[in-house]
Amino acid sequence: MSAIAERLGLVHSRIERAAREAGRDPASVRLVAVSKTKTAAEVREAHAAGQRDFGENYVQELLAKAADLADLADLRWHFIGHLQRNKVKQVARTLTLLHTVDSVRLADELGKRVGEAGREPLPVLVEVNVGGEAQKSGCSPDELDAVLAACERQAALRLSGLMTVPPHTDDPAGARPFFDALVRLRDRLGGASRLPELSMGMTHDLEHAVLAGSTWVRVGTAIFGERA
Ligand SMILES: *Cc1c(COP(=O)(O)O)cnc(C)c1O
Repeated sequence: MSAIAERLGLVHSRIERAAREAGRDPASVRLVAVSKTKTAAEVREAHAAGQRDFGENYVQELLAKAADLADLADLRWHFIGHLQRNKVKQVARTLTLLHTVDSVRLADELGKRVGEAGREPLPVLVEVNVGGEAQKSGCSPDELDAVLAACERQAALRLSGLMTVPPHTDDPAGARPFFDALVRLRDRLGGASRLPELSMGMTHDLEHAVLAGSTWVRVGTAIFGERA
């Protein structure tokens, strides 16, 4: 078995154990393999091990890998980085799920460009900066209502949920209050019927995210190793 296949297995075990501890069906938690800075060959290796969902943070890197891997027709690309409005057009066709809508203006631009791309509606999550960190992207909890409404106004978008990246804490349990805060926002703004997906949890805190209710964990290091 390849190292990547082995590490993927370990990540699935972690997810499964946390889901069972939470009394959840492990299949309700899905895995985005975060391949930023890693090569197309490494993505191909993860794909061969059964992984289908991959996440990227930068538009040029995503497009280069998508071109290299175009023969893998069932591979799904997620965008998890900050998306600039002037780059929307380039990714409108490629993405399966965009995790990082963070403004009304981005939602409007996406609606227009995805519409022009003539594809099925693009599922989107709204990123919330629950920790209120100045250097992090994501809308503030106060802006969330307006950004959600902006996504729903666009026929080319399908609002699917919320995403967050909590402030870093050395103890992974330190992320839990921020995951819980995202769940409370979801419950206050329409609950799981309006916002079924919660994208939260990374290599070091995924168990806490699954316990809090995550439906998409985004894991890079535990699958592909440390980034340079
Ligand atoms: C890089 C990144 C991840 C993956 O982080 P790891 O700690 O390597 O698992 C997840 N989410 C976002 C938004 C990222 O930028």
